[in-house]
Amino acid sequence: MVRISKILVANRGEIALRIIRACQEMGISTVAVHSTADADAMHVRMADESVCIGPPTAALSYLSTASIISACEISGAEAVHPGYGFLSENAEFAEILEDHGLRFIGPSAEHIRLMGDKIAARNAMSRLGVPCVPGSNGCLNNLDSARRAAREVGYPVIIKASAGGGGRGMKLARNDDELDTAFSSARSEAMAAFGNDELYLEKYLAKPRHIEIQVFGDGRGRAVHLGERDCSIQRRHQKLMEEAPAPGMDPETRARIGAICTAAIADIDYAGAGTIEFLYDQGEFSFIEMNTRLQVEHPVTECVYHVDLVKEQIRVAGGEGMTLEQDRLELIGHAVEARINAESLPDFTPCPGRVTTFHAPGGLGVRFDSALYQGCTIPPYYDSLVGKLIVHGTDRKAALARLSRALREMVVDGIQTTAPLFDQLLREDDIRTGNYDIHWLNRWLAETS
Ligand code: ADP
Repeated sequence: MVRISKILVANRGEIALRIIRACQEMGISTVAVHSTADADAMHVRMADESVCIGPPTAALSYLSTASIISACEISGAEAVHPGYGFLSENAEFAEILEDHGLRFIGPSAEHIRLMGDKIAARNAMSRLGVPCVPGSNGCLNNLDSARRAAREVGYPVIIKASAGGGGRGMKLARNDDELDTAFSSARSEAMAAFGNDELYLEKYLAKPRHIEIQVFGDGRGRAVHLGERDCSIQRRHQKLMEEAPAPGMDPETRARIGAICTAAIADIDYAGAGTIEFLYDQGEFSFIEMNTRLQVEHPVTECVYHVDLVKEQIRVAGGEGMTLEQDRLELIGHAVEARINAESLPDFTPCPGRVTTFHAPGGLGVRFDSALYQGCTIPPYYDSLVGKLIVHGTDRKAALARLSRALREMVVDGIQTTAPLFDQLLREDDIRTGNYDIHWLNRWLAETS
């Protein structure tokens, strides 16, 4: 296979920059695409070339397969990196690219499709020996089957959309009555959000942590894992702060779950980066879903394993093969990521606008992945994430002290951000000691508001 020499980045914001940076270091030319709202965006400035692909509405620009393919043809790009969100988990997009002789930097369309259907993913993972959250076998066709499944699994249960994502459409039910309402509202929400109303249910775990395993496959039966990330600090099922390794995780448990995950993805010849998400409760891992793309929080893993996951994705997609080897992956220190969203507190209302003053934090062990610059405008049309402050330290305590220092150094004026929230969180004993579960932040927000 010929090495990739030009990549089109089908994304915006910090992740587009992240990919462009990797390409530049590999000597690969880059093409940015942008909507009219992003004409002055940093990713457009940093790429070698750029193509405007449509109006602000994402459906007509960043989600437009036809426009992206045209941009590849105009620019001569040979491959597309989708980043996360947008078209990153769209199997049809990956297929159409291949049909046009373009390479999709990610796993096969078949694997994207399999893991995008959460019912099929649960079945596949369970067959591959990965422990799953107890739940319904397959799709819930009607309220009766939902009731039967809920009684079998035992209340409380959580109803989920098979095509779900982004924490949307999940409904909790503690008894038959609640199940009736949860079932019909989950069904209509799923239809509206994903155009697919297939539902399934799982046992609702009371106090689990969200722990995910970073995996990587070469597409030819070899796979590695890069340990875990703890992403339990969430609001409305959306992650706000992530860390690697998970507080208190011992090397034996990591090796055990890592081996289960690598065996599973090696078995299916998975290619590229993937994340197997689990709920972790009383020493037990239970699979919830697999994301077939780079995660927002991938930098914490990069920091502790000293790897570049984007370069590795490009090498695998380009046929150069995977350079990662399990025996040579060594976990060093501790890394934490704080998501800086353009949102005003305490309600987390999106807060687009013009950034009047900006100063990026820096110094030893600080990485700030962001597309912000002084004078830039945050448009109202897209995700509110505007930066990721990632710190690495010799241990958890050192990493948290560094995060606190870096937050003090960061200046983003003109818009409101979630940065002040982390100052407060870092003062909490539970955060300092790593004593939290997926509901901790919601409880804390309710108590402190
Ligand atoms: P999505 O794909 O929409 O993000 P996930 O299945 O990954 O949905 O779940 C997102 C979050 O919802 C999890 O991180 C966790 O906080 C919560 N959650 C999911 N399943 C359960 C469950 N069975 N019990 C308790 N909480 C859950």
